[in-house]
Parts: sequence; structure tokens; C-alpha cells
Amino acid sequence: MNHFPIFLNTAGRRIVLSGGGDAALAKLRLLMKTTAHITVFAPDADDQIKTWAKDGKLRLIDRAIEPGDAMCAALFYAADEDAAEDKRTAAIAHADGALVNIVDNLADSQFITPAIVDRDPVTVAIGTEGAAPVLARAIKADLEERLPTSLGTLARIGKAFRKAADALPFGRPRRDFWRDYYFNAGPKAMSTGEEAVQPALDDLLADHLMKDARKGHVAFVGAGPGDPELLTLKARKALDEADVVIYDRLISKEILELARREATMIDVGKEAFGPSTPQETINELIVEHGLTGAQVVRLKSGDATVFGRLDEEIEAVTAAGVDYHIVPGITAASAAVASIGQSLTRRGRNSSVRFLTGHDTRGFADHDWKALAQPGEVAAIYMGKKSARFIQGRLMMHGIDPETPVTFVENASRADQQVLSTTVAEMEPTLTEAGLGGPALTFIGLAPRAALAAIPEIPLPRAPEQMQEAQ
Ligand code: SAH
Repeated sequence: MNHFPIFLNTAGRRIVLSGGGDAALAKLRLLMKTTAHITVFAPDADDQIKTWAKDGKLRLIDRAIEPGDAMCAALFYAADEDAAEDKRTAAIAHADGALVNIVDNLADSQFITPAIVDRDPVTVAIGTEGAAPVLARAIKADLEERLPTSLGTLARIGKAFRKAADALPFGRPRRDFWRDYYFNAGPKAMSTGEEAVQPALDDLLADHLMKDARKGHVAFVGAGPGDPELLTLKARKALDEADVVIYDRLISKEILELARREATMIDVGKEAFGPSTPQETINELIVEHGLTGAQVVRLKSGDATVFGRLDEEIEAVTAAGVDYHIVPGITAASAAVASIGQSLTRRGRNSSVRFLTGHDTRGFADHDWKALAQPGEVAAIYMGKKSARFIQGRLMMHGIDPETPVTFVENASRADQQVLSTTVAEMEPTLTEAGLGGPALTFIGLAPRAALAAIPEIPLPRAPEQMQEAQ
């Protein structure tokens, strides 16, 4: 960061601008939002500037700037639209001790003016160090749309209410109150008129004081397979409001970064056959935080209800009398099947699909192998890497066609996604030889759509054409 954003108090200070054309007009429109004393030097000023001068909004001196003219100015803008004149006027202002900006000349400017979203007294300044003005404008447009136009008025009324709102405990309760005011109750009241805002604030406070007596809450949230764009809006909201996030090993960094900055992040990573936090400890942690009145997000990869030991956690939470709800997520099988351009079910091929786990708490998991060995069956196997040889053996023993396709999708939906396409006869040692290190989903009975001709390994089959191929 080369340019450090600050908000400069311009009340009663001088701001001097040289120039009288379009560049000057654009800057003056912004500067006139301040309470600074603005002086414009322009031998041939635009009529609009003359009108502003007549209306007392600024002082216009109809000659070029001379040494001493920018004395005591806090800021100076060279808006001469002429490189040589800009250079001359900037040098004068610099000598007079003002901070200098030359319009459209980043290199010779001491400061830059950000894109501004004005909801005075709420001001959002957006800067890109001059790198991407288009992006700054797009962000500005986005914020203009998102921030209620009444925000400024709401902030002014809200400011006078701050003492009263201190009746709520510091932290989440107070934060929730203000969020509710600015984005919900406030704008709603404003739509009937400014005089409705004060009574709405009183009601809202009473409401929140009551709510505060409430206990904590646990949201069991499915974080999806890793790509943050596959999070649900509800998951994002829960992360945004979390006081505590208790997360698993498979949750990607990008997703964790979406949690509220003040949230306490607790890693309870569990690894198959590896080091892990015992389930009882996880249950206790969730309950402990829930009982403090915190908004707890229990973040699980994929969908929380699929091989997530969710019921044990729900039982612990309900036994402690803490409320909970579940936010569904995209399970690994859905993400993995999308990456190979296939469907989990298909008319005429399989009318059911099995979600299996490769191992359970006792070791390799047993299943109805005989049923699975039937032609056309499709199974999505979670945690199936270590048990691949066992699964292969069981399926062969029950007479599966050895040419039945098997696909491993590692890191589905993530940048390092890999697809390994093989058959039951060769799934081992193919898998071991490939040495996949990340989480992988195993499909029995499905081959990548583009690889029906048995290509052993396809890196990233994510091309949109492939996804859209007709059934
Ligand atoms: N609740 C999760 C599954 C947890 S079990 C869900 O719904 O997806 C963990 C197993 O899920 C891993 O061993 C792996 O088999 C699978 N898995 C999770 N994320 C995956 C990903 N991005 N790509 C492939 N498999 C994944």
C-alpha cells in the first residue's frame, strides 16, 4: 500500500484549485461537499464555476495562480488540463506548503482522490492506487446500490441514540442492534418519514434488550467442497455473524477468511487414521461456547448431514438446551460428479445412488457388496482412498464386471482438482501409484463423460462445453 487512506478534516481550511474546465468542475463537485474554503484560480472559468462563486460556494479569482496564492492551503489541485501549466501551478503550491494533486498525473501527485460513496456522515472511500479506476467505479456503483440512501440521515439520528443503546451489553448484542437499525428497521421507518425513525429506534431497543436475555445458538453449516463460490448465501451469512467458528480439517482457507474478523476460530481437524480431536471434545467445545450466549458456527465440509457425525453434535447441543439449526451445503459427491460431466442418477442406467463411507469407526466399512456389484449401479464412496483395495476385493468377489468404470476425483471444485479414471480391475494399484494426497471421492460405475474411451488421467475436466453436453 503506497497510498494510506485517511479522512482529512477540512473544516475551515483552504483548498486551492487551479483550472476552470471540465477537470476542475469534476473535482469541485466533490470538494464542495466539504466545509472547506475553496479558492479557484482560472483566467477563463466555466460558467458553472462563476455561478458557484456568485452563490458563495467558492471564491473565484480570474487569473492564473502566482507564488503565495496557495499559502496555508491544506490541499491543492492542479486541474489545468495542460501538462506544462500543471507543472508550474503544482510547483507554486508545493512551495507554498500545500499537499499537491495533479489531475490525471499519478506519478507527480502527493495524494490521490478516491472514488467516494457519500452517505454523509458515512463516507466510503475506494482507491486502487491508480491501478484500476474502472474497478473502483464498479465497486462504487455496487456500494451505491447496496447502502440505503437514507443511511446518512439514519447515522445522524443513530448518533444521538448511542447512549441509550449502551444499555445493551458491549459486543454482539450491541452490534446486532445497530445492524438491525441501519439495514432493516431504520430504512423501513425512513420510508414512512424521518419522524418515524426515533420511535422505531425505541421499539428496536426494547426488542433487542429482550432478545439479549436469550441463549446462544449453534448453526451446523455445510461449507461445500472447497470452492468459496459454492457456499450458500445462508452459510455466508452465518459466517458473517459468527462469534465462534469451529471447523474441520477440510475447510479451505478461502472459506475461513469469510468469517467475521472478530470471530474466534477453533480448528478441530480430524484426519482419517491420523491425529484428531476426539468427538467428545468437539461436542464439549460446541456446547461450552453455545452456553456463553455466542453465535456458534460449526463448519463442516460438504454437507453437514453427510458422514459428518452431525447427530452426535446435535444430541450434545440439545441436551445442553442450546438452540441449533442446520444449513445444508453441497456435498463432495455433487461437486465431484459435476466435475466429470455426469449425473448421479440417469434414466435407464441407475435409479438410485449409494453414498458409502470407505471406513467407519471400526475400520473398513462393510456394505451390501452383492447389490453394488450389479450392472449399472452407481456408488459415491467417501473416505475411500485407504480402503480402495478392500472395496476392489469385495466387488470382485461378488462378481462385478472388472471393466466397470471407477473414477477418483481429488479436491473436487478446488483449483488443484484431479480426476483419475480407471476400472474396478485396475483401481488398485492405479490409485496408490497416482499418490493422490488430498480428499478424494470414489465413483463406482461412473466414468468421466469425455473419457468413456478410457483415458487414464484427465487433468481438470472443467471446460464448460463438457458440462453442457446433452444427455
Ligand atoms: N460432509 C462431507 C463429507 C465428509 S467425509 C461432504 O458432504 O462432502 C470426508 C470425505 O469427503 C473425504 O475423505 C472425501 O472422500 C470427501 N471429500 C470432501 N471434500 C472433497 C473434495 N473437495 N473433493 C473430493 N472429495 C471430497
